[in-house]
Amino acid sequence: MALDETWFSEACEECGTAFSLKIKEKLHEQQTEFQKLEIYDTTAFGKLMVLDGFIMLTTRDNFLYHEMMSHPALFTAPHPRRVLIIGGGDCGTLREVLKHDSVELAQQIDIDEAVTRASEKYFPELCESNNDPRAELKFIDGIKWVAEAEAESYDVIIIDSTDPVGPAKGLFTEAFYRNCYRALSEGGVLVQQSESPLVHHRLLREIHEAMNGAGYSDVKTLPFPQPVYPSGWWSCTLAVKNDRATNFRERDSANKSFATRYYNIDIHRGALATPPMFIDEIGIR
Ligand code: SAM
Repeated sequence: MALDETWFSEACEECGTAFSLKIKEKLHEQQTEFQKLEIYDTTAFGKLMVLDGFIMLTTRDNFLYHEMMSHPALFTAPHPRRVLIIGGGDCGTLREVLKHDSVELAQQIDIDEAVTRASEKYFPELCESNNDPRAELKFIDGIKWVAEAEAESYDVIIIDSTDPVGPAKGLFTEAFYRNCYRALSEGGVLVQQSESPLVHHRLLREIHEAMNGAGYSDVKTLPFPQPVYPSGWWSCTLAVKNDRATNFRERDSANKSFATRYYNIDIHRGALATPPMFIDEIGIR
């Protein structure tokens, strides 16, 4: 069946697939200084945010991504007080981070203020913690921010970025991961959104090589479902400063004081398991 203009489609050339959402109406279109930002209302997935033609998030399934980008890293850090989010302009990761009582400061550094302003309007539920006194939102380049950060000033750094093109390209490099390493406290944790384990094998290998090269003692990719991203199977990669990525605060995770829809201790344990194809076909673990 050919799709008409009532569908939004994102084609993935390297996957040989396209993913489509039935649209009720386009709510917003803006060429920002950095990217083209579009918001749609869909019939089945709620609101949809698109940057430069690529799906960023929908109301219906963003919880999978935001919970997996936050809770495994925060429960791996020994005592997460200071958290830095690079990108993440929709504020969903910030909301999850602020669920942790130990967090005293959560800084979100997105290059594009327009993303946050649109999120406040169309995804207010993701922005409900933006006025938390522990939250700090700044709109500048995350690469520069980390390069100038004080040594050992963060316990967790979350790279909630767009794909490695345009302004986000430099967020996937060894030089950037080295600056993050310097900015992390002992036992600190870096987590990067690391694309699809079904499709992006070379990128995943490069992320592991770059993180290992930057000095982290352990690097581990955690897969999770994400229906609206290419292939529907996504991942985040944890890199730990002088500790093991498999060593997380299990008791705190089991007794967490906040609600989640996907993350729990068993999901965390399961995501730490290594599928044989990670080793055999991608060359990572
Ligand atoms: N979950 C999404 C995904 O994986 O497709 C990412 C969502 S979030 C909206 C990505 C954010 O990264 C965007 O708001 C973009 O402005 C931001 N970004 C890209 N490059 C950046 C940089 N160099 N510094 C800070 N933020 C950056």
